[in-house]
Amino acid sequence: MLASGMKETLSQLVPTGNGRPPARKQLFGLDAEALTALMVEAGEPAFRGRQLAEAIYCQRIAEIDEISTLPKALRQRLVDDGWQIARPAIAQRFQSIDGTERYLIQQADGLTTEAVWMPEGDGGESGDGSNAESADSLDDCSPERESIIDCHPERAPIIDCHPERAKRVEGPAVSKVYDEARRSTICVSSQVGCAVNCQFCLTARLGLQRNLTAGEIAGQVLAIFERHAVEVGRNRVNLVFMGMGEPFLNYDGFIGAVRLLVSEVGLSPRRMTVSTSGIVPGIERFAAEDTEFRPKLAISLNAPNDSIRDQIMPVNRKWPITVVMDAVRRVQLRPRERITFEYVLLGGVNDRPQDAAEVARLLRRSGLPAKVNLIAWNPGPGINYATPQPEAVEAFRRALADAGIPAYVRKPRGREIYAACGQLKRTVEG
Ligand code: SAH
Ligand code: SF4
Repeated sequence: MLASGMKETLSQLVPTGNGRPPARKQLFGLDAEALTALMVEAGEPAFRGRQLAEAIYCQRIAEIDEISTLPKALRQRLVDDGWQIARPAIAQRFQSIDGTERYLIQQADGLTTEAVWMPEGDGGESGDGSNAESADSLDDCSPERESIIDCHPERAPIIDCHPERAKRVEGPAVSKVYDEARRSTICVSSQVGCAVNCQFCLTARLGLQRNLTAGEIAGQVLAIFERHAVEVGRNRVNLVFMGMGEPFLNYDGFIGAVRLLVSEVGLSPRRMTVSTSGIVPGIERFAAEDTEFRPKLAISLNAPNDSIRDQIMPVNRKWPITVVMDAVRRVQLRPRERITFEYVLLGGVNDRPQDAAEVARLLRRSGLPAKVNLIAWNPGPGINYATPQPEAVEAFRRALADAGIPAYVRKPRGREIYAACGQLKRTVEG
């Protein structure tokens, strides 16, 4: 059931004058280098490109004529030439009683994608041994970036640009925002629909409509940052590429988004996790990434062996479990980093005690530093699986833990707002 009364429409959330016509000349999604090239081509000094990048990605300004660091005449010229920032915007918002917010985010061409904000995470992103990262400074901007990007609230022009937010910094409201944001997780989509056809997943029913661009993926994050007044460098937000779509079948879009979020927004790739159904060429490309731009990796295992996996994830016939594991072993892990194995529990299909024992053996034999995130299947219309019994979920977790594999149960989030992968778009748009 929808949390009625919590739904807001586009006109309430998007500032007027930002009516989302298809943006032919869209600044959002271009990195500082591309923006610099644009400025130089326009006969402007190169540093104007960096100013534009700061305005769009750090100050999160949505309208060109509000970029106070650019001369008025230049702003006017950009607008007259048909340029828009065209950042993706929250079109509809659904709020669950557990605090989870799910959004339909409208892209510049009118298409919507799903994203989720979980104020306290989902229980799956912590406790994985990589938590030693929590000791990291909250400051994600590297010193060499300091002089260029002002992501930090202490020195950020954000306060000058957004006086209403500056006020909040002084008052108690900010600690509330800080409290709310400090352990939160954002989940974004990488494609509209998905071509992979996992039998339990509602997104699969949409088929693949299209890939999202780097800007369209990163824009989901910034739209949610804006809504929750997230302060990069102060609030600790985890990001998971686990919404609609298979990120490794849109590798360029996915990695382009990571680069924008790391280089321009100032996020750390160590707080990002990308999940794949096991697309081996994608895992191989991922293994070759520089750690500066490499998120953590999650594999949707979902079965203890090939015969069950073949049935529920036909992709396994192309890349069976051992082939996926061999590719994963090529990823050079950071100290204390683990590979996450996601496991959707389907009642009577893959949730039996012998399945847990087989998963434990499989992961031990793999030699990989692994942790398992268990999630009870979230039902969707027209999909004939059963949600597992709570006792079966706990028994599965305990069996893995007893076998020395760290295992966590991801909290079911926002069930009443259609929180399963792909459910919101299907439910709202038919
Ligand atoms: N395509 C990627 C990432 C998006 S799906 C992947 O498959 O890994 C993100 C996670 O949601 C996957 O682990 C998938 O197995 C899980 N999932 C899909 N449908 C689900 C459902 N109905 N209930 C619970 N988890 C689901
Ligand atoms: Fe695609 Fe992931 Fe859903 Fe499988 S689980 S259909 S890969 S989105």
